[in-house]
Amino acid sequence: MHRFYIDEQQHMGNEIRVTGEDVNHIKNVLRLKEGDRILLCNSVDTDHICEIADLSEKGTVLCTVLESKKSDSELPVRIVLYQGLPKKDKMELIIQKCVELGVTEIVPVTMKRCIVKIEDEKSEAKKNLRWNEISRAAAKQSGRGIIPKVGRVMNFKEALKKAASEDPEHLLVPYENENGILSLKKFASEMAASLKKGSKPTVSVFIGPEGGFDESEIEEAKTAGATTVSLGRRILRTETAGLTTAAILMYETETGNDSLS
Ligand code: SAH
Repeated sequence: MHRFYIDEQQHMGNEIRVTGEDVNHIKNVLRLKEGDRILLCNSVDTDHICEIADLSEKGTVLCTVLESKKSDSELPVRIVLYQGLPKKDKMELIIQKCVELGVTEIVPVTMKRCIVKIEDEKSEAKKNLRWNEISRAAAKQSGRGIIPKVGRVMNFKEALKKAASEDPEHLLVPYENENGILSLKKFASEMAASLKKGSKPTVSVFIGPEGGFDESEIEEAKTAGATTVSLGRRILRTETAGLTTAAILMYETETGNDSLS
């Protein structure tokens, strides 16, 4: 069933009006007909199974809600990826793969060893728009209940502050100079255990750019309460490290989560 994302204000009673670019997609690309069923997600926690009721209104597709259910495609944990700005278009690959793996939010971060420099406001805004489009497309393809947000570029200090304010207990820094993968196993399994108590923690994952972390950044992160972990005995590229961490957290939390047993 085709999936589209709506805001709750489009939902009145048992009707939902689809508007915007999805209307053209439904009418002219997919050529859906009245009576066809589509899934409308409120991008928070609910998916509505709907039937297309009226295609005649310009710029609108009127749908009737047949059934509403809790979105079952989100992880039981919020993962925020703080990605050291990588070179070229690696960010697009990182966004796409992390959205498929259940990451909730992605924040591009300037770090000391970043090679790319921040451009002017207009170019950054254009890039951010493209990155959010990639997130939307990956969310649709992978059947996410939400469209993960790709935030504006932050510096390391701002990123640490945001992460510590959201959940100071779960600041994770995969560090290339850290030894012993047990630290990651311990962090992930302890977090999975905390889920059983009904909490929904936010795990902030900090990944360095191609040049890695500067020692001073690791010290700053540790002062903010971060746990440094190893991702194994090999050095992963920056575009590999974030999705590896997301996959491990996804595995630990989804298999550790009763509702999926
Ligand atoms: N230039 C560095 C590697 C940086 S890789 C070097 O060659 O040594 C980019 C980021 O991926 C790192 O900053 C870290 O966050 C993560 N990473 C890569 N391999 C890792 C590993 N084995 N353990 C933990 N983190 C790793």
